[in-house]
Amino acid sequence: MKDKLSLKEMLKINNRALRILSKRYPQMVSSTIASSTWNALSPYVNIYISATIINELAGNRDIDKLKKLVMIALILTALIALVAAFLKKWKESQNAGMWEKIEKIFAEKMLDMDYASLDDIKTSEKLSTIRQNMNGGGWGLIRVIECYELLYTALITVIGGISLTISLFTSMVPKGSNYAFLNDPLIVIFMIILMLSITIAAPILNNKAESYFAKYANYHNLGNRLFSFFSWLGFDEKLATDVRIYRQDRICNRYNSRKDDTFASDGLFAHLARGPIGLYAAASSAISIVFTGVVYLFVCLKALGGAFGLGSITQYISSITKVSTGIANMLSTLGEMANNALFIKLSLDFLDIPNDMYKGSLTVEKRRDRKYQVEFRHVSFKYPGSDNYAVNDVNMKFEIGKRLAVVGMNGSGKTTFIKLLCRLYDPTEGEILLNGIDIRKYNYREYMDIFAVVFQDFKLLSLKLGENVASSIVYDKDKVVDCLNKAGFAERLANLPDGLETYLYKDYQQSGIEVSGGEAQKIAIARALYKDAPFIILDEPTAALDPLAEEEIYNKFNDIAGDKTAVYISHRLSSCKFCDEIVVFHEGKVIQQGNHEQLLADENGKYHELWHAQAQYYAKTAKVSIS
Ligand code: ADP
Repeated sequence: MKDKLSLKEMLKINNRALRILSKRYPQMVSSTIASSTWNALSPYVNIYISATIINELAGNRDIDKLKKLVMIALILTALIALVAAFLKKWKESQNAGMWEKIEKIFAEKMLDMDYASLDDIKTSEKLSTIRQNMNGGGWGLIRVIECYELLYTALITVIGGISLTISLFTSMVPKGSNYAFLNDPLIVIFMIILMLSITIAAPILNNKAESYFAKYANYHNLGNRLFSFFSWLGFDEKLATDVRIYRQDRICNRYNSRKDDTFASDGLFAHLARGPIGLYAAASSAISIVFTGVVYLFVCLKALGGAFGLGSITQYISSITKVSTGIANMLSTLGEMANNALFIKLSLDFLDIPNDMYKGSLTVEKRRDRKYQVEFRHVSFKYPGSDNYAVNDVNMKFEIGKRLAVVGMNGSGKTTFIKLLCRLYDPTEGEILLNGIDIRKYNYREYMDIFAVVFQDFKLLSLKLGENVASSIVYDKDKVVDCLNKAGFAERLANLPDGLETYLYKDYQQSGIEVSGGEAQKIAIARALYKDAPFIILDEPTAALDPLAEEEIYNKFNDIAGDKTAVYISHRLSSCKFCDEIVVFHEGKVIQQGNHEQLLADENGKYHELWHAQAQYYAKTAKVSIS
């Protein structure tokens, strides 16, 4: 992270980040402002009252006045502490879970962005860098509120301090005193400049020390990644067998003891701490002490000359020190904000990823007869950043209520064809029509609603079984059970201790159950059935299903698809031979179309070739399993 930003740019970036946070979490910002204003101003009340009491003690010693002052001091101190405690609680409750709050902003963006952007490797790289910076050095959006809190507190401190310090420079040493020279405006200006210079030098040196952490953030991120991966390897039960068999602990030790390990005592940061970071930080502290000396000297000499009373000494020393600390904090916070702006920029780049996909507003007609006609017209598609067509000039009409199989070798374009149908991507050329109208013109959500898909790489959530099937917290239990029964999950359901309330996996509940690939597939099919959409699509299951299990699932699916238009994708032809219509994909093109018998009869066709090649393979696996 070496780029430099101008002051204006860095403030613009930080301000935008603050606006994003305050729009999403308004109370987080207002509670922080209220609490920091209170905390910054309240010490001055004490400073002022203490000074008045001491002046009275050193002067007239009026007992009644002293009693009154002490009472006021006590009541105000108690009130200030009470309000401060209330504001602190408010602020803490609003700022709690900051990490999750920031993650939520990113998660919402991920859900909102075009699928094409989400699927883009650059997007995941961006998010990964943002997260590494956030987890490693606490950089990015996560630091914004803290920075503004520091800056704001410092500003209020400076304003409060200056108002109690002005009289230090305006109160004159009586003429004739040895110290009357302190009234000379040149001396006053010299003292102000000296104090300001020391005040400014300290944070500049400190910022220099801090800047090393931002400068080497990428190095630290790498170290953090290695540390989090290799150090926890021993705790991962899923890896335990391989770790033992292949002695992978040796690799872990090698990485953990790397000389440039960010956490090691001979690592880069330890080296820098002993060198420049340490020197700059020490110089910054030393110069602050010089400042205290100069302030004491000036204030005490003026008091000695008779410019003000004893009590005012404490007032001026405390408030001038506070002004100085305030200015120093302002500068060091601005430095921190400048360092952080580069990291925030990465987050803003991510949040600014545009949604380019055109989304129309036409309502998708709700038809009881499910008569939805979909047509592909000369549809071609290249993945973003790719030069090759994944789907090339595809023309096809879906016959309503029929079973369509999409077959072909791996990589022939089958899944891409389904993704285009479901509008996860828009075609590069050509158009897809629903009841004669380009699908881009329909309301996106409503168009999505006519499809229920069991994707190849579907995922179930670590939630209750019923919630998984219904994709909702509130659901129709009978309908869920019916869908699970239809999907072939009845027997397993009967044996589940908590029925639909049973948690899948163990992420949230120790009592959660593990399900096999085939069982997960059945739950995913039940989820598709529950959606009750006019189109139901089953992408080839890769979850370690053997050919027989896949065929069983496809046959069952055929029964339960009912009057819906069903699409099956597979590279195993035997799974789909029952379909009314089979399209054969090869290198992105539809090269054959017809039913099983017609396609098999064409001895020169791809289908014939694949069928015989696969029949041989299945015969072999059958033999192996028999022997
Ligand atoms: P199939 O489902 O028939 O196995 P796919 O539709 O997944 O085939 O892939 C078709 C072609 O598109 C393949 O060459 C594949 O490498 C490519 N492809 C698939 N997904 C992506 C992607 N996200 N980015 C770039 N290329 C992709």
